[in-house]
Amino acid sequence: METDIVIIGGGVVGCAIAYYLSRAGVSATVVERGEIGAQASGAAAGLLAPLGPLSGPGPLADFLLAGCALLPELVETLTEETGLHMGYQQTGALRTVRDPKRVARLKKRWEAWKPLGLPMHWLSGDEARQLEPLLSPDVCAAVYAPTEGQIQARQFVLALAQAARQRGAIVRTQTEIVALERSATRVTGVRTAEGERLSCQQLVIAAGAWTAHATAWLSFPELPIRPLRGQLLSLQQPAPSLQRIIFGEAAYLVPGDERIIVGATREEAGFALAVTEEGTTWLRTTAQRLLPVLAHSEMLATWAGLRPKTPDNQPLLGPLPGWENVVMAAGHNSVGIMTGALTGRSIADLLLTGQLAPITRPFSLERFSS
Ligand SMILES: Cc1cc2nc3c(=O)[nH]c(=O)nc-3n(C[C@H](O)[C@H](O)[C@H](O)COP(=O)(O)OP(=O)(O)OC[C@H]3O[C@@H](n4cnc5c(N)ncnc54)[C@H](O)[C@@H]3O)c2cc1C
Repeated sequence: METDIVIIGGGVVGCAIAYYLSRAGVSATVVERGEIGAQASGAAAGLLAPLGPLSGPGPLADFLLAGCALLPELVETLTEETGLHMGYQQTGALRTVRDPKRVARLKKRWEAWKPLGLPMHWLSGDEARQLEPLLSPDVCAAVYAPTEGQIQARQFVLALAQAARQRGAIVRTQTEIVALERSATRVTGVRTAEGERLSCQQLVIAAGAWTAHATAWLSFPELPIRPLRGQLLSLQQPAPSLQRIIFGEAAYLVPGDERIIVGATREEAGFALAVTEEGTTWLRTTAQRLLPVLAHSEMLATWAGLRPKTPDNQPLLGPLPGWENVVMAAGHNSVGIMTGALTGRSIADLLLTGQLAPITRPFSLERFSS
């Protein structure tokens, strides 16, 4: 089969690239070994909360804030195009502390966040409980960011894939790429597990935590992307319900209509996707420390996903060094839902114009070459 652009991976990154290419009238082929959005992208809690991963201004801050800023209009367009609802909401988020000894640390972070320009309010424990009466009585301070929000991550990916398909992209599921064909410094095609060959002019590797496997087929020295498992669970919403996102105790609570998502562990466990009793117990007890009423909430579901982790927690974007027609778009760690659309737009631009947008340039692989 002849196709110009092949994208390995049908997570948020691969689907967003295909979507932005399709908006420019270019139909790419997304090849996904399972189902669309069934790995990290579908497991994600859907936080659109850029402050957490940031310790002040810099390239990652620019990327996260621009990524989130793209979403309101994009979600509206995708909803119109596909009819899918993604639960996009600016619910606001509270970053809480329960231990008075940790207040100074939160204050330091708050000072570091100020130059980012996001609306924020410093609250006492009582002021935080006025906003969220279910918060534990021992919460003694909080930072409230009213514009942070959430999206249903899986629905978002499905909408990107469907909109891309409607504009001509080919989305192949249950199709695993097992080898790449090359001629000198160009990839000329990909091979599926069924032995089918897809020829390509350009290849994008958007294979999430598995990206290093794909670059290994090019005899590329080991790429610094590793899986970092995150376990989550959902609990029944109490009545009255939690309205805002809560961070605290190294965990978060994300409220929905009927359930609260509690996340997430951070574990080096290779590619194992198992949910463990230890993980579930930690999530439940931490959730209860933040919101004691959750002791009475039924557990609805548990699941896990693999974050594509890089050593500096920043993505790897742009051409694969030494190859003329291979582009990487991976390593989004804990922020791929927030930044997937911006990644998609930037990588589509790169494929169409040969130019990487300035906001994306700091994330090239070259930063690790020394
Ligand atoms: C527990 C958890 C919570 C998270 N919460 C948030 C959050 O709240 N907000 C946020 O912004 N981010 C969050 N993230 C991070 C976010 O989910 C990831 O950064 C993002 O999903 C990465 O997207 P991706 O497309 O690169 O990877 P993936 O979604 O993993 O997609 C990669 C795809 O490539 C496919 N693939 C791999 N190899 C092959 C092959 N050889 N052939 C064919 N297909 C292949 C895989 O099957 C997979 O579907 C969370 C992640 C986890 C694990």
